[in-house]
Amino acid sequence: MENRTCQNCGKDFSIEKSDQDFYEKIKVPPPTWCPECRMARRLNCVNSWFLFWRNCDKCSKRTLSMYPASKKLKVYCERCWWGDSWDGTEYAMDYDPGRPFLAQVKELSEKTPYVALENTYLTMKNCEYVNSVAYSKDCYLIYWADYCEFVYHSSILNGLKFSSDCIRGWNSELCYESIGFNRNYQTFFSEECDDCVDVWFSRNCYGCTNCIGCVNLRGEKNCIFNEKYSKEEYEKKVKELKLDSWAGLRDLEKKAHAFWLTKPYREYNGHALNKNVSGDHIYTSRNSKECYLVNGAENCKWAQFVTVPAAKDCMDYSGWGHNSELIYETGQVGDKASNVKFSADCFPDVVNAEYSLWCTAAKNVFGCVNLKRKSYSILNKQYSKEEFEKLKPKIIEDMKNNPFIDEKGRIWPYGEFCVEIFGKHAYNNSNAYKMIPKTKEQALREGYAWNDEENPSHAATMKSENLADKISETADSVLDEVIECSECSRGYKVVKGELNLLRKMGLPVPHECPKCRENKRFARMTKPKMYHRNCAKCGEAIYTPYAPEDPRIVYCVKDYQAEFL
Ligand SMILES: [Zn+2]
Ligand SMILES: [Zn+2]
Ligand SMILES: [Zn+2]
Ligand SMILES: [Zn+2]
Repeated sequence: MENRTCQNCGKDFSIEKSDQDFYEKIKVPPPTWCPECRMARRLNCVNSWFLFWRNCDKCSKRTLSMYPASKKLKVYCERCWWGDSWDGTEYAMDYDPGRPFLAQVKELSEKTPYVALENTYLTMKNCEYVNSVAYSKDCYLIYWADYCEFVYHSSILNGLKFSSDCIRGWNSELCYESIGFNRNYQTFFSEECDDCVDVWFSRNCYGCTNCIGCVNLRGEKNCIFNEKYSKEEYEKKVKELKLDSWAGLRDLEKKAHAFWLTKPYREYNGHALNKNVSGDHIYTSRNSKECYLVNGAENCKWAQFVTVPAAKDCMDYSGWGHNSELIYETGQVGDKASNVKFSADCFPDVVNAEYSLWCTAAKNVFGCVNLKRKSYSILNKQYSKEEFEKLKPKIIEDMKNNPFIDEKGRIWPYGEFCVEIFGKHAYNNSNAYKMIPKTKEQALREGYAWNDEENPSHAATMKSENLADKISETADSVLDEVIECSECSRGYKVVKGELNLLRKMGLPVPHECPKCRENKRFARMTKPKMYHRNCAKCGEAIYTPYAPEDPRIVYCVKDYQAEFL
């Protein structure tokens, strides 16, 4: 084990023997930034949630975009970017050995056109207002999702259908305001429930049907606040709870959240199909340490957002798997990616890529930006296989001897993921802000950009308090209204598909705008940070996403499973 001081935050971190073996295997020097700073700089390169309006620099059409109108970049709408009317090789540069290589990549990154949204565009149907999405259809304002249909206002999904206002939903249908669930049907206002049917305001329940406000139940039926009722009694009680009324739901939510705190939480969120793992939200993974939100990870470390299985032999990997392997220091790389380093937004089918940004279906690329379906390319210029294999090691040598120094005086030799080039988003507009929140001062001090620009709000035509208490009392005319959010006062609209879905589920129109609802859900979700504390039952040391001062009762995996399996 070797101890190092982080070049960015000054904190100490250690490099273990197994880390060292990985660095040797993929031929990179050990990092000089600590794991948390490395994660922040990778997540800073991706913006899934903060969208702005601007005009396409090719066809002039108005489009939603990850880049605000003030950002000095050439931005094309998805149709133009993915189309064949332009080609990244138009911007090809000859390598100049007299200048640092990354200075040249930076130059290239400032003149090539970017796509407004980060979707695998060619796999989508009728999804104009979504971001970080692939293989989906008929969705609206969803972010970071694959294989979804008719989903609204939701994030981090795989295989969700006819649902709204969810985070981390897998393979489920007709769910609303729920976080972390798999194979559910009709789950509302719940957290960490799997294989459930018709479950409300419940958490950590598995295989349950008709349960309300329940915690840690297994295979139960007709329970309210963990108390079992006959089918008839249950149905009578449900009517009294007024699940179709906005006021009734708010009241029940308060009671449920207070009840949840009285029952133990598992050390970390995951299940028994893991082997030798640490971190939170880990499923069907093995030999993977310090991970967050991963599915089907094997031999991974410091991996986050592997929302589509699988990822194998990856380190410092921020999304999103889908049969990827040998990835190091990348953000938003996936869908059969292999051997990709120090890169962002490279998908699908990207093989042997380094220091590249926005390359699709590319093989053997080095320092390429906004390049589609090319191989053996450096700075977007195509070479023969022999020329490429001769020039690339020479450039890596040059990067070590003549590293790029950015405007803030930071040195970027070969082996560091250069946030200065790949981070095209302000910190507060990037995924980093969602997971590792920093103040404006803190972000600026660490060399990140900040953006105070917001989309203009539409003038409201009605106050949310004047919305009908029940969906059965809500007329179609609500679609023409701009509703004033009860939290932030900004105007928001309800769209037709969403209203249909609420009617189908019997739920009232929410009084808060989609962004406020999203922020509340994120606030309830654990972050990619782990703490040492003690099991509330046996007192043994545990490693958990719940900080020691968090009021939750937290059990070690052994004690939790002994009681609740
Ligand atoms: Zn650090
Ligand atoms: Zn366009
Ligand atoms: Zn709001
Ligand atoms: Zn214990």
